[in-house]
Amino acid sequence: MRLPPHNANGNLRRNPDMRHHSLTVVLFLLTLSVAALWAMAQPSAAVELTIEDEPVQGGLVAARTNPGAIVHLDERPLKLDADGRFVFGFGRDAPADALLVIQHQDQRIERPLTIRQREYQIQRIDGLPAKMVSPDQKALERIRRENRKIAQVRARYTENDGFREGFIGPAQGTVTGVYGSQRILNGQPRRPHFGIDIAAPSGTAVIAPAAGIVALAEPDLYFTGGTLMIDHGRGVTSVFSHLSALSVREGDIVGQGEKIGEVGSTGRSTGPHLDWRVNWFEVRLDPALLLSDAVLQPP
Ligand SMILES: [Zn+2]
Repeated sequence: MRLPPHNANGNLRRNPDMRHHSLTVVLFLLTLSVAALWAMAQPSAAVELTIEDEPVQGGLVAARTNPGAIVHLDERPLKLDADGRFVFGFGRDAPADALLVIQHQDQRIERPLTIRQREYQIQRIDGLPAKMVSPDQKALERIRRENRKIAQVRARYTENDGFREGFIGPAQGTVTGVYGSQRILNGQPRRPHFGIDIAAPSGTAVIAPAAGIVALAEPDLYFTGGTLMIDHGRGVTSVFSHLSALSVREGDIVGQGEKIGEVGSTGRSTGPHLDWRVNWFEVRLDPALLLSDAVLQPP
């Protein structure tokens, strides 16, 4: 260590280098303050947005942004988890354009999305006898009650991430009905088909395609007969219909691949098959788009 030079009186002599040093410190502190003020006046950290899936009709899209951000899809508010992750889905006839708006602190970004449009199987059958089977008043009340119950399950948001592991086919069998297909009978368009139909013998095991909570277990609904619903979290739910047996109860937590019931032909059904549907809240998704492997065999 070099001792500072002393003058004749023994006092510490202020040398020009040290004076220069003090000036540097003052300038440095000044710069720091200015920088801090500048930073306070500046907008906050940039909005980050990662979209993990292709937006497509019937598809589910996982995305991520800054935790705590406010996110809207076409003005619909979306819920985020603590890590800033969120999901949203598009219905069968979703238009080609959607807008994702993210507000984070005083930053706002708009991300236009292009939703891939699909072609669906349309089957025209003409010359059918004009015979309609319409449920009576009592049945209609029952149907309304049951539909309300299903809608309530679809409306719920739970902080569970069962859907994130991907989906596997819920039953071994032959696909006899696909998402989006529609029949036009005597020129009258019927409701499109929103699930996957898997034909299999009665008693064939039905397994949970992804983990979740059993949100509904009804042995005999008017249209769907033995019916189960699994809440896979964040608005993603499955419905399994026409079951001959249920192996789980409401509130049960099921893992992917766990047996939940058996294929049947209960409710309004023309033969043993599993009808599997998936929703994001009220938006009907295509289960086939969620499958991570080609478990299902086309006919
Ligand atoms: Zn079906």
